[in-house]
Amino acid sequence: MNLDKHSRTIPLYCPTCAGTTFESESPESHSVTCTGCERVISREELRRENEENIQAHLAEIKKEVSKAVADDLRKRLQSAFKGSKGFRLK
Ligand SMILES: [Zn+2]
Repeated sequence: MNLDKHSRTIPLYCPTCAGTTFESESPESHSVTCTGCERVISREELRRENEENIQAHLAEIKKEVSKAVADDLRKRLQSAFKGSKGFRLK
């Protein structure tokens, strides 16, 4: 079972203009600049501003994964009981 397809990039939104594109001078630089409104925001602040959004995404991923696990289990059970009469899984 492959859970990789459930991983995704969570977009971070600019708290000022809700833009999702940011520029930084280098990957190590402490702050980024929003390309929409040119607001300079620290990575940490950006993450904090998006905390709710991140949590919502995580909850969604969790839901998808547990559904995938349930589906997988159901398939296994179905094939395990295949051929046995009078036993049916919905
Ligand atoms: Zn912005």
